[in-house]
Amino acid sequence: MAETKELPLMEKIVALCKRRGFIYPSSEIYGGINGFWDYGPLGAELKRNVKELWWNTMTRLRDDVVGLDATIIMHPQIWKASGHVDTFSDPMVDCKTCKGRFRADQLDEIPCPQKPSKTVAQCPGEKTPPRAFNLMFQTWVGPVQDESALAYLRPETAQAIFAQFKNVLETSRQKVPFGIAQIGKAFRNEVTPRNYTFRSREFEQMELEYFIRPDEAVEAICGRVAAVEELLARGPLGEPQPDWGWQAWHKYWVEERIRFYESIGLPRETLVEYWQKPEELAHYARATVDILFKFPFGKRNERGELIGEELEGIAARSDFDLSQHERYSGKPMRVFDEELRAAWAKLDPARQQALWQRYFEHRKNYLTRTARPGETPEQIERAAREDADAFAKGHYIPHVIEPSAGVDRLVLALICNAYAEDQMPDEKGNLETRVVLRFHPRIAPIKAAVLPLVRNKPELVRKAIEIRDTLRPHLTVFYDDAGAIGRRYRRQDEAGTPFCITVDFDTLGEKGPELKDTVTVRYRDDGRQERLRIDALLPWLLERIR
Ligand code: ATP
Repeated sequence: MAETKELPLMEKIVALCKRRGFIYPSSEIYGGINGFWDYGPLGAELKRNVKELWWNTMTRLRDDVVGLDATIIMHPQIWKASGHVDTFSDPMVDCKTCKGRFRADQLDEIPCPQKPSKTVAQCPGEKTPPRAFNLMFQTWVGPVQDESALAYLRPETAQAIFAQFKNVLETSRQKVPFGIAQIGKAFRNEVTPRNYTFRSREFEQMELEYFIRPDEAVEAICGRVAAVEELLARGPLGEPQPDWGWQAWHKYWVEERIRFYESIGLPRETLVEYWQKPEELAHYARATVDILFKFPFGKRNERGELIGEELEGIAARSDFDLSQHERYSGKPMRVFDEELRAAWAKLDPARQQALWQRYFEHRKNYLTRTARPGETPEQIERAAREDADAFAKGHYIPHVIEPSAGVDRLVLALICNAYAEDQMPDEKGNLETRVVLRFHPRIAPIKAAVLPLVRNKPELVRKAIEIRDTLRPHLTVFYDDAGAIGRRYRRQDEAGTPFCITVDFDTLGEKGPELKDTVTVRYRDDGRQERLRIDALLPWLLERIR
């Protein structure tokens, strides 16, 4: 143990993940493949728990969000419309000395391959000028490998949601405001995958597109748009209200997402709410908040403290995405809002004119920014006028708030946050250093381990198997009868199992009838033990893992 103490924290975490079966390098028997990782037995359970909790929180526990499960390969025009074909690239440089290839904006963070104590920026090798490198993986659909068969592995799950927006709207009978959620694989040919699974080339995302009314519609219907500063001055936002504009919805989703992270065991002080500066925003974004987690790696502030790395981005994307798909597909993406139509008719003409004008300006602005070659200002003006006229009749393209999170980054954050070394007495009472993963029971890969004290006493083993079989349909249980009980506890500590259930001679009533059919429950975090009746075990555990 003294030896592991000297290793940097991340190295210990990587070693533990390998040793215990959380994460392995992909294709390891062939030397691995850079930027790809596999999840072992414990990692697969942990990841599944993360996705299930996200899915439950975002869809099943809400009336206003429904799910989608779309394909990875989609029509290539989707990526033209979204802007990925033309702009989804990172600046790349080559080092003429070490022949390495790096992201130009990360030279300060990447260790030099020749002198790992220095970063690439400090390494004297001459660099080529940066050039754009598109991050999308390409493939061909069908037998002919030419331009017409070119397709992409999706670099994000979000675009499928936009492309299926109309189908979902029509079949789910939702009305704006509502959301569509999706979990799935995404692929990016990152120039420099690094920091373990943090920046991978194949990863999973959990994304929600939450569609809202344009502010002009909210104002027409409610008479005003709630001022977000006033709302926040009263405390947390609470339940959504009809007079919320995009700013209140954006802030609402930031609060919801932080609450989610806290509910699965990431303490508030490990998270940072970073509001992107105007110059950092994507051109279509009105505001973006990155939720950062203080990983043991990454950028530092001027005092040398780690400032956190992105877990999730929550962007207010206006009506950009659906508008793009309307333009590229020629299929209308507008919705009809009966409440807007009814409210509009009751507005006085001056108010109508002011709202019409604001909506017209917004659309003109979008159409001007995305104008195609040859499109004239008159054509743009006419299109914007048509949009504003349709708006006055209750039709608009919904705006969107997008909370977009990475499964793999969250799994890594949970492991980093859970990792601890402490002192625990061994079987003889001597203190020894142990490694423990203090997962919140909600996400722990194994909820309870059932351990017969010895394996050579048939009644005892029978009892233990009975307990395992009773619990198994309700929670993930691990049965282990191999080795000294202290060692088995340690193994479970390293797996992050919150409760160990030991079946011993007392369970059989050997020390008296009052202990018959009771077991010892041991708590992972402090080693505390208590005696519980077997028939009380299941409700006791369920209460603690939900
Ligand atoms: P970064 O700036 O770190 O490259 P990004 O801003 O490009 O991330 P988004 O496009 O907003 O990321 O993707 C949403 C989420 O998907 C991120 O917050 C992150 O959790 C996850 N993600 C993005 N790229 C990767 C990757 N290469 N490996 C693992 N997760 C990723």
